[in-house]
Amino acid sequence: MKRIAVMTSGGDAPGMNAAVRAVARAGLDRDVEVYGIRQAYQGLLAGDMALLSSREVSGILQRGGTVLQTARNEEFKTPQGQRKGKRRLNENGIEGVIVIGGDGSLRGALALHNMGVPAVGIPASIDNDIWGTDTSIGVDTALNTILDAVDRLRDTATSHNRAFVVEVMGRDCGYLAVMAGILGGAEIVVTPENGVTMNEIAVSLEDAYIRGKTHAIAVLAEGAPYQGPELAHYLEQKHIGFEIRLTILGHTQRGGSPTAFDRLLATRMGVYAVDLLLAGETGMMVARVGREQVPVPLAESTAKTRLITPEYFNLARILSR
Ligand code: ADP
Repeated sequence: MKRIAVMTSGGDAPGMNAAVRAVARAGLDRDVEVYGIRQAYQGLLAGDMALLSSREVSGILQRGGTVLQTARNEEFKTPQGQRKGKRRLNENGIEGVIVIGGDGSLRGALALHNMGVPAVGIPASIDNDIWGTDTSIGVDTALNTILDAVDRLRDTATSHNRAFVVEVMGRDCGYLAVMAGILGGAEIVVTPENGVTMNEIAVSLEDAYIRGKTHAIAVLAEGAPYQGPELAHYLEQKHIGFEIRLTILGHTQRGGSPTAFDRLLATRMGVYAVDLLLAGETGMMVARVGREQVPVPLAESTAKTRLITPEYFNLARILSR
C-alpha cells in the first residue's frame, strides 16, 4: 500500500486528534501517504480529502475535539452511498481506510471492508459501549471531567445542606454514570440498565439526611427512564430534608484535553491500526485487551454491545453506605 486515509466519525471524543496524529506519523515512518478525510462519511462522499502533512498534525496531540471534524451521514448507510464512497477512494488512489469512531462509524468501516476496501476501525466513544475492547478513546477523559464537576458540586452541596442530581451522558449505556457514582461518592446511580425508581432515590437521599450527612449526590444517566428535571421535581415534592438542585453536565463532557491515559491509548491504537492495514488484516477493529492492542473482527464488535461489569453495580451499592 502506498496511500491510505483516516477519518473521525460519529460523536466526537477527546483523544481523536491524538489518534489521527499517530496514524499520520506511523504512515511517515512506514513510507505510506496518509490522507485526512474531512467530516467523516459526508466528506468521503464529497471527495473532501487531502494529504496530511507532518506539520498539519503537529500541536494537536493535546487538543480535544477533532481537527478532521465529524459529521453524521445517512447516504452512506445505503448500498448506493457505499459504492459512491468506494469510487471516491479509487479516484484519489486510496488503498485502505482507518475509521476512528463509535459503533455506527465502525459499521461504516465494515461496509467498506465488505465491498473489498481494506478498512480498520479504532474505537472512540465516551460511553464505553463498544464490544470487544476494554475501553475506547475518550472514556477516561470524559470520566475525569465528570468527576471534576461532581467534586465541585459536593463542595457547594456541603455548604448548603443540598442534594444534587447530576445528569451525565449515556443514552443507551450507563457506564459513565456508574463509574462517576463509585468514584465521585454518590448515594445512588440511575442508568438505563439498572431500573432504579424515583422512589428508591428519594428513600436513599432521605436516609443520607437522617444519618446526618451534609450533602448527597444522585447520578443519572441521560438514558434513564426519567430525565433530570422530572426527578428533581419529584424529589422536591417528597420533602426529603435536603434542598434539591439539578446539574445537567451536557456537552462539556465531550470536550477538553485528553488525559495521559487517552493520549497513550490513542497513540498506540493509531500506530497499531496502520500496521494492521499494511499487514493486510482488513475488517478489524483495534481492541484494547488487558494492556495490549489486539485485532477483533468488526463483524463481531459491531454485532454486540459492551455491557457494564456487574461488579461495578455492586461496588456502587456497597460504597454508598
Ligand atoms: P457513532 O459512530 O458515534 O456510533 P453514529 O451511530 O451516528 O455515531 O454513526 C456515525 C456515522 O456512521 C453515521 O452518520 C453514518 O454515516 C455511518 N454509519 C452508521 N451506521 C452505519 C451502517 N450500518 N452502515 C454504514 N454506515 C453507517
